[in-house]
Amino acid sequence: MPFNEIFGINAFGDSVMRDRLPKAIYKELKEVQAGERELTVACAEVVANAMKDWAIEKGATHYTHWFQPMTGLTAEKHDSFISPTADGLAIVEFSGKELIQGEPDASSFPSGGLRATFEARGYTAWDVTSPAYIMEEGNCKTLVIPTAFVGYHGEALDKKTPLLRSMQAVNKQALRVLKALGNTTSKRVVSSVGPEQEYFLVDAQYFSARQDLLLSGRTVFGALPPKGQELEDHYFGKIPERVSAFMTEVNEELWKLGIPSKTQHNEVAPNQFELAPIYGVSNVATDQNYVVMMTLKKVAKRHGLVCLLHEKPFRGVNGSGKHNNWSLATDDGMNLLNPGNTPAANLQFLVFVSAVLDAVDTYAPLLRLSAANTGNDHRLGANEAPPAIISIFLGQQLADIFEGIASGKTVPSQEGVKLELGVNTLPKLPKDLTDRNRTSPFAFTGNKFEFRMVPSSESIAGPNFTLNTVVAETLAAIADKLEKSKDIAGTVKEIVTETWKKHSRIVFNGNGYTDEWVKEAAKRGLPNLTSSVEAWPYLTKEDSVKVFTKHNVFTKEELHARLDIVLEKYSKQINIEAGIAFEMATREILPVVTDYAVELASQIQALEASGVKPASIKAKLVEVADLAEKAAKAAVALEAARKAAKADLDVLGQAKAYRDNVFAGIEALRDPIDQLEKLLPKEYWPMPAYEELLFRI
Ligand code: ADP
Ligand code: MG
Repeated sequence: MPFNEIFGINAFGDSVMRDRLPKAIYKELKEVQAGERELTVACAEVVANAMKDWAIEKGATHYTHWFQPMTGLTAEKHDSFISPTADGLAIVEFSGKELIQGEPDASSFPSGGLRATFEARGYTAWDVTSPAYIMEEGNCKTLVIPTAFVGYHGEALDKKTPLLRSMQAVNKQALRVLKALGNTTSKRVVSSVGPEQEYFLVDAQYFSARQDLLLSGRTVFGALPPKGQELEDHYFGKIPERVSAFMTEVNEELWKLGIPSKTQHNEVAPNQFELAPIYGVSNVATDQNYVVMMTLKKVAKRHGLVCLLHEKPFRGVNGSGKHNNWSLATDDGMNLLNPGNTPAANLQFLVFVSAVLDAVDTYAPLLRLSAANTGNDHRLGANEAPPAIISIFLGQQLADIFEGIASGKTVPSQEGVKLELGVNTLPKLPKDLTDRNRTSPFAFTGNKFEFRMVPSSESIAGPNFTLNTVVAETLAAIADKLEKSKDIAGTVKEIVTETWKKHSRIVFNGNGYTDEWVKEAAKRGLPNLTSSVEAWPYLTKEDSVKVFTKHNVFTKEELHARLDIVLEKYSKQINIEAGIAFEMATREILPVVTDYAVELASQIQALEASGVKPASIKAKLVEVADLAEKAAKAAVALEAARKAAKADLDVLGQAKAYRDNVFAGIEALRDPIDQLEKLLPKEYWPMPAYEELLFRI
């Protein structure tokens, strides 16, 4: 089959629904999807029947309500379509009710105290707007129905529910602004996302020989070989054949599900790669990003590889992130962040960019914490380049436009500039409105903002419900002004001026990876929340509660619950990593270090017996023995710190103890271990080294 024809064959998407549903039901469902009416049981009944027939034709035997609990992973419980009859046979059945609602036992998922343990009930509710699909695992095929997961009283227990709520909020406020600007055609505004997914691939045999990778997804020890990424020879380089074969299969699987996988390339670090799909509506793109992550992992195994989604699997080379390209668009095809040819005169564009500037500056801590996780602590604000400071790259021309309007000057738009390449045979390229800036955490890139802090291993729901909510809030304030205005152009000018005066401090077009920026940002009063534990508590601060509750994205209780969940998860993860570091050091590495020291000692004896003075070997023995002693002490200290942190009863205090004492303890142990790795003969080292992990595929 030609590859374009497989696109969407395993998704119950729009064309399948049009083909298989009676016209009236199809129309009704479209209206439900557009939020114009509620789903009726009668409609669900017909859809369920069509979905079941389609799934069974595709070979599915089971269906599952698929949801995204706050473990950060996805969950599924499978039921077969089989229903026994009185005559000892069976028919296939799938009712409207089974499509709409499921009832998994919620008691084993994190709820942050939202649910008392005796209240085990939880519900899954069909997300009508995200296509169901057939998941193929070997010869087992399952109809997967994307759902939201809530508690007995409707409390959000997942990542999808707040995302859907935030989409509703931003739709409402953006429409108010559009109407006030005179738009009479748009009926809906949707937020869209294109997540660029970074990942590493390692050979499975090396992966499974390392306890740290196997159990935590990152290496807690490991010294770089003489070559790292300094030659910049991997980025955009030739994709290795084995990886190409893997990518081809990943694409096929994704295309079958209607996931528009588009771009693939080598990333900066050795054995690091990227996959980017074409953007889609936030909730669908979020579901699809989960499927992308699962597919990368699944297909890698078939190729004897393991896909690492961790933010920082290796020290000394780049980590992985997820660039979250975000925009707002109308149902009639208008991108609200499109500057057009004359941005200075484009009131709609100026207003929407103003809303983003205000939102990102006012709620910077919320955005920062939406990108916080244990893995990202190794990147943001730590040794790796991206700082933890939120700032916006607007580009010179847009910054000039805002500055010009705010200071009452007229601003010429640089229209239609062509690039002069100095070679007659090369085509003249149209110049983009803005240059790129790779160092900005939040960059305007032509017709969208690219939020670059997002962790590679996590759902993109958090960053997106945060963005949608805070932008809904600033749009609401703008709508209040515009709705009262008698002079729209004049009011827009006022809004732009006021926004620029108050919030231009968030705009930074320079190199965000420098120390000067850290100092400059401090002068501007921009928060620099260098660790997750520092960022997360902002979730329950008064302003955060106000904005999330006002737009019905979270209740106060839901926010408090979420804070507890992330803090607990952080502590548990560091606890696991500390346990791994302790075991690897004491049960794998130090015993062979002792063997080697004994070997050196006997060599010294033998050499001395032959009348030779082995000074350098003696020096080496002393160095090895010293480092082994240091490591052994650090291991004991780490274990003590871990036990102390574990006993801490307050969740925030505990997370801090894990960060300050346990995480630091792992690093203190790593130091002598990594030095020992370089001192021991290669064949002594009891696990694959970075050279194997990063350079052998
Ligand atoms: P980069 O050069 O930044 O690496 P990529 O092509 O890898 O760019 O990824 C850019 C992403 O932005 C793609 O997923 C693309 O579909 C997405 N994108 C483009 N336009 C929009 C938009 N209006 N809203 C959201 N995402 C968008
Ligand atoms: Mg890219």
